[in-house]
Amino acid sequence: MSLHYDVIVIGAGPAGLSAAALLGDLGLQVLVLDEQEKVGGQIYRNIQGADDGQLEFFGADYREGLQLAENFTKALVTYENHAQVWQVEPEGWVSYSRNGESKRVRANYIIAATGAMERPMPIPGWTLPGVMGAGAVNNLAKEAGLTPTGRVVLAGSGPLLLLEASLLVKKGVEIAAILETGPMVPPAGDLPRIAPPAAQGPAALGFPL
Ligand SMILES: Cc1cc2nc3c(=O)[nH]c(=O)nc-3n(C[C@H](O)[C@H](O)[C@H](O)COP(=O)(O)OP(=O)(O)OC[C@H]3O[C@@H](n4cnc5c(N)ncnc54)[C@H](O)[C@@H]3O)c2cc1C
Repeated sequence: MSLHYDVIVIGAGPAGLSAAALLGDLGLQVLVLDEQEKVGGQIYRNIQGADDGQLEFFGADYREGLQLAENFTKALVTYENHAQVWQVEPEGWVSYSRNGESKRVRANYIIAATGAMERPMPIPGWTLPGVMGAGAVNNLAKEAGLTPTGRVVLAGSGPLLLLEASLLVKKGVEIAAILETGPMVPPAGDLPRIAPPAAQGPAALGFPL
């Protein structure tokens, strides 16, 4: 393995995969480092391991990731999974851990495509069994096909919450309430696609009347 690359891309989500495939096709020496088992990042998590049922369930947006992952797989780039980057230095050195070993590689250019992360707000009881971030529910569904059982309350803000609500409804999970902590009411046109309690109006969404 070379220790010096033209470009090191940190992250194999859609941004990192696109950048790496393009640069590889241009003939550059590219190393992609990602801490996950498989490529795809958050939106396309486990895209190459998903069965037909999962591809159908997560819809056209998710399936688009297949082509991206395939382009990346065909590109002449070096890819290391389970590679957790923990330091980038100004001279182009990148330090990371992989399978219990620390490594240091260098590049002329570094692309940080490390994506976004969920920001759960700690509230009393948030570590109790059965309480989890909306992102964790999403990850468990994509990685392992798992769905929560029983009635579910969704609390928080942002598009992931509503995306998760619509996916749970599709799975037949009973949504007891969606408690939106932000000021924005989803556009009325979106409501039929969201959970039934949400479609009942602002009171059910947890907004002050
Ligand atoms: C749980 C969750 C689910 C989401 N689901 C959707 C969805 O269904 N639809 C949608 O439109 N948007 C979704 N989003 C928003 C999502 O972040 C973007 O749509 C999209 O995935 C961003 O692409 P990206 O390539 O920028 O980053 P990401 O997809 O986040 O990919 C970044 C990659 O970098 C890796 N990484 C991060 N830090 C390091 C490090 N230090 N070392 C090594 N690797 C690292 C991560 O493991 C990840 O694989 C979701 C976000 C979250 C948090």
